[in-house]
Amino acid sequence: MAPDALNRLPTDTDDGMVLVISGPSGAGKTTITRAVERAFGDAVFSVSATTRARTPADVEGVDYHFVSEEEFSRMVEGDEFLEHAGVYGKRYGTPRGWVMEQLRRGRLVILEIDVQGAINVKRSLPEAFSIFVLPPSEEELLRRLRDRRREDEARIQARFSQARNEIAAAQTCGVYDRFIVNDNLESAINEAITQVRSERARRREKARMRDASGTR
Ligand code: ADP
Ligand code: 5GP
Repeated sequence: MAPDALNRLPTDTDDGMVLVISGPSGAGKTTITRAVERAFGDAVFSVSATTRARTPADVEGVDYHFVSEEEFSRMVEGDEFLEHAGVYGKRYGTPRGWVMEQLRRGRLVILEIDVQGAINVKRSLPEAFSIFVLPPSEEELLRRLRDRRREDEARIQARFSQARNEIAAAQTCGVYDRFIVNDNLESAINEAITQVRSERARRREKARMRDASGTR
């Protein structure tokens, strides 16, 4: 038996795909990401490490691993991150080992990360599929940031003023495969699910054609 076969689980497939979801704070990324996660039986969400403070809405190990600056630096030195970046003055990082393991098992691995992170992920995993979530307008973005009641007004304004830069960077960096405007939530969720489903079907078909031509 091939050594790799020993490590294969009954649920493993060759369908692995990294899905990057980005967008300015308040655009609706988390809401859409969690809906996409529920829609695919093999989807897993990559829990980043962060030095930002935990809010009452956050669950340790589900939304983030909340770590100290020292712990984060130790993880960087140990090469534990696929990518890491400073966002709004705090540090965030994607766990390399876990992501690669899930990808190898054939899962849909969802990374909810910022534009810098997406650029770096595409550099090491060019086959990652990336979606950028846009708000319908600046006014609506500000309303959603406030509605969430997660940050104080100063932090809300800081996130709001970053939004234009983030959107401009996303539109020029060439990393995003799809842009989705999150106006009506249900339509945006359906669009994201449809995009992911068709991309996976396209890749499966490509692999089938490749295998078929290889065995002829
Ligand atoms: P992000 O993860 O991009 O920061 P969230 O998913 O936390 O954004 O969404 C920000 C707020 O906007 C939340 O209160 C969420 O319920 C709300 N929201 C998300 N999408 C919509 C939408 N299409 N219409 C109205 N409110 C929305
Ligand atoms: P929040 O503090 O609102 O949860 O996230 C702030 C920003 O950090 C969001 O744009 C989110 O996508 C991004 N982010 C979360 N985790 C990571 C990560 O591991 N890497 C990078 N580069 N960005 C992240």
